[in-house]
Amino acid sequence: MRIGVLAVQGAFVEHEAMFHQLGAEVFEIRQKRDLDRPFDGLVLPGGESTVMKKLLRELDLLEPLRRKIEDGMPVLATCAGLILLAEQLTDGEPPCFATLPVTVRRNAYGRQLGSFSQEADVQGIGSFPMVFIRAPYVETIQNGVEVLATVQEKIVAVCYQNQIGLAFHPELSGRPDLHRFFLKRVEQYQKQA
Ligand code: GLN
Repeated sequence: MRIGVLAVQGAFVEHEAMFHQLGAEVFEIRQKRDLDRPFDGLVLPGGESTVMKKLLRELDLLEPLRRKIEDGMPVLATCAGLILLAEQLTDGEPPCFATLPVTVRRNAYGRQLGSFSQEADVQGIGSFPMVFIRAPYVETIQNGVEVLATVQEKIVAVCYQNQIGLAFHPELSGRPDLHRFFLKRVEQYQKQA
């Protein structure tokens, strides 16, 4: 099982550390030729979604990765990664992959709550320490999207087919549960293939 971590910008190293801890093989996706090697799951990290979107386009990574997601490759998308997956953004910015049928509000907690942590339940996992950094939340979901967690009555974790979208940073929590949950999905996907 090999996990490709998008590594053009943002907090990708922390994800890699989590996967190493779980014994999974990871590699960094920095340019198009990195996609020549086979892999079974994709991570879209936190960072700055507008910068990542621009780089994805410039590096010619957007379409090949979108195709993989549409073909069912499991994706773990955190914070800016969730913004990249969303079909719609409330700020009117054009979407990036647009494979996850949700509307996302960027920088949704305002200045005072720029960064905060909160423990909340994640479906199937239990209580989880969530780290939010200039985080988005999911404002609306369409049919077929499962809500995995809410905080302050806002949706902060969703699952749709093989796409897991999180508004927070599980790679900074010191707990590998959500990465393990993702790896299980990757394993199932491999069995189907
Ligand atoms: N505010 C960032 C954005 O809009 C996301 C922040 C993060 O990934 N921690 O892209």
